[in-house]
Amino acid sequence: MPVKLGIIGYGGMARWHHKNASKIDGVDVIAAYDIDARMVKEAEENGLRGYRALNEFLADKDINTVLVATPNHVHKELAIAAMDAGKNVIVEKPVALSVAELDEMIAASEKNHVLFTVHQNRRWDRDYRIMRKAVEDGLLGDVYTIESRVHGCGGTMYGWRAYKKYGGGMLYDWGVHLIDQILYMMPSKVESVYARLFSIVNPDVDDYFKVLLNFGSGLTAQIEVGTMCLESLPRWFVCGNRGALHIDDFEAKSGSITSLNKLADEVPAEVIDTPSGPTRLFAPRPEDATDHLELPEVNVSWTEFYENVRDVIDGKAELIVKPSEVRYTMSVIEAAFKSHETGQAVKMKY
Ligand code: NAD
Repeated sequence: MPVKLGIIGYGGMARWHHKNASKIDGVDVIAAYDIDARMVKEAEENGLRGYRALNEFLADKDINTVLVATPNHVHKELAIAAMDAGKNVIVEKPVALSVAELDEMIAASEKNHVLFTVHQNRRWDRDYRIMRKAVEDGLLGDVYTIESRVHGCGGTMYGWRAYKKYGGGMLYDWGVHLIDQILYMMPSKVESVYARLFSIVNPDVDDYFKVLLNFGSGLTAQIEVGTMCLESLPRWFVCGNRGALHIDDFEAKSGSITSLNKLADEVPAEVIDTPSGPTRLFAPRPEDATDHLELPEVNVSWTEFYENVRDVIDGKAELIVKPSEVRYTMSVIEAAFKSHETGQAVKMKY
């Protein structure tokens, strides 16, 4: 059965879904509802059935799946209304503003026996998949630290994103992607979370944050987002006991892996002189003790998100972005907000 998609909130992200999901076999975008009449008109001009009333949109029997692409503070009520109308539901990230809100949404999906998932599209980012493959293939040895960052210099956040009451701020906006990426690849659970949030140019919300996730395995992941950083560090920096990786950008156009080779234990490190004194530990490794590897190849396409939704509706596949995983990410985000408020690391409870 094709996905017959109706969109709630025909703004920037909805137009992206309209354009890109329409190209996927078995996915038809057919309708949109928005509280803003100008957006409904735009949807109609782009070939969709436009609705100005939610009840009329939800009564459209041709729509079997609803995408909620509104500001974050109304995701819960709109998703539940759609599920109560018998529709499968995809919600844009962040799914909701708290674990409690999400639990109500999960309960609605179970009560109505409908699909419920979240557009965690950055699970399909090329840079992320390459980093993950390097770690999982053991190219770095035992990994003890992962740093994931996005640095930009735009500064001012626009529209609803700049206000807490609409679910604005970077922890909800990019934090939810970057935390999801890390949790989705880790076999071990987060034991504690420490976070610092800042409002550098946007007074009502966080526009710079650092979150430290401490895993049961001993690994630490640092996640950092800054909207006012006029210099930037690599997208990924990962260290293991036999190698290290950096990737500079989303496309992984530049980056590298350096690993120790068999000679590493035999070739002694040399002492070098710095302007104020000698050091051995911080001298470069002799060239013949290390190998420089290409980043591994990955074959990845975001379209798998919608193909999976289509196949789950047809009973042919298991859901990729599971509500339980989204709940885990949301509980880590809650812990990060709590850590910032208390100044303490927050222990996770399972
Ligand atoms: P936007 O402001 O461009 O569009 C939001 C639209 O929702 C507007 O047209 C607005 O009129 C409409 N709207 C507001 N309240 C409504 C309501 N109660 N009922 C119906 N319509 C309503 O915002 P955006 O940038 O498109 O973001 C929308 C969602 O998409 C957010 O949750 C955001 O986090 C998410 N998003 C996800 C990604 C991603 O990569 N996954 C990227 C950008 C945005």
